Amino acid sequence: MSILSRRARSLKPSPTLAINAKAKALQAQGIRVISFGAGEPDFDTPQNIKTAAIKAIEEGFTKYTPVGGIDELKDAIIKKFQIDNGLTYKRSEILVSCGGKHSFYNLAQAIFDQGDEVIIPSPYWVSYPPMVALAEASPVIVETKEENGFKLRMEDLKKALTPRTKALVLNSPSNPTGSVYFKEDLEKIAELAIENNFFVISDEIYEKIVYDDFKFISIASLGEEIKKKTIIVHGVAKTYAMTGWRIGYTAGPEEIISAMSNIQSQSTSNPTSISQKASVEALLGPQDEVKRMVSAFEKRRNYIVQRLNEIPGVHCLNPMGAFYVFPNFSSYYGQSYQGKKISNSTEMADYFLEVARVAVVPGIEFGADQFLRLSYATSMEEIEEGMDRIEEALKKLS
Ligand SMILES: *Cc1c(COP(=O)(O)O)cnc(C)c1O
Repeated sequence: MSILSRRARSLKPSPTLAINAKAKALQAQGIRVISFGAGEPDFDTPQNIKTAAIKAIEEGFTKYTPVGGIDELKDAIIKKFQIDNGLTYKRSEILVSCGGKHSFYNLAQAIFDQGDEVIIPSPYWVSYPPMVALAEASPVIVETKEENGFKLRMEDLKKALTPRTKALVLNSPSNPTGSVYFKEDLEKIAELAIENNFFVISDEIYEKIVYDDFKFISIASLGEEIKKKTIIVHGVAKTYAMTGWRIGYTAGPEEIISAMSNIQSQSTSNPTSISQKASVEALLGPQDEVKRMVSAFEKRRNYIVQRLNEIPGVHCLNPMGAFYVFPNFSSYYGQSYQGKKISNSTEMADYFLEVARVAVVPGIEFGADQFLRLSYATSMEEIEEGMDRIEEALKKLS
């Protein structure tokens, strides 16, 4: 009998965290590494949010709360959906969890069984397939192409549907590609979901981090019928630079939310009381800091996309949201440095770390080996130097 469960043995650590660990190890040796690996904003949490947390501590708001979150936070979330998305939810349709990842995890545990198929478009966020697999369902990866803006084509989605299709995972704006779905795209997906009776899990964590005056639309807002088939996964982490506070939330049909709450009640119980108070302030307080952060991201995006596209053989779509670029480096595969051939995204990323001292995440981790993911949630100076280093390193290949 093996010590570890089948479940535990089937998992590997989150690859995006692994690259950061490697970069940190080099930094510990005194080597300066430019990191494009981060999956979180580089900004500090805004002061008003911190102050709300300190106040919560000082007032003794440090005990258990209701499992699914305090009413004050649920009401703030309800207000957010009403104002931003024109969506009306009741408290019983909202669950607060320990991060958006935890929201997704609880959801997977609540609605998936062995034999269920869950359609995940690639490139995908690294955690979707393992979380689906941990719920014993089968991830069905549907490839999207760079030339289609990394968006799902209806014919590909239709081909992937079977009577066992339980859900489709949508992530707009996307990690890792930054691509966004427009209303017309979403209408077609909604129609298909209603017709074929599958759920849409809409991960909207990057809703507020959008550029070029793009207007975000939630698929749930397209009508009462699709709203009943949609579960929105959201959180404060990316919008408010609150990744460490661990607050995510879900909005969806009461029956599902209630099952998720039961699961949560037997694992983590309530998310941190202090973080809940801070999140109320994040959602209801002044939003100027969000604007400031998004406008800084947009400047960096403009710069990094231009620099990447100036490199011979590299091309990079202009992402409309999130804080990642997903350039295609595959024209360099097959080339070598000091007798060592680079043949895929993992070797390309290793090469950049070893020779350029630049950390990037190999595209294969997101199911797309021709690409690398670079996060521009880092300072303009770092981006400039990082791009210089990448350009130099590529010149050494032949
Ligand atoms: C960061 C992220 C989340 C959730 O992050 P939490 O820190 O758990 O709130 C969810 N989905 C995507 C695509 C993300 O990039």
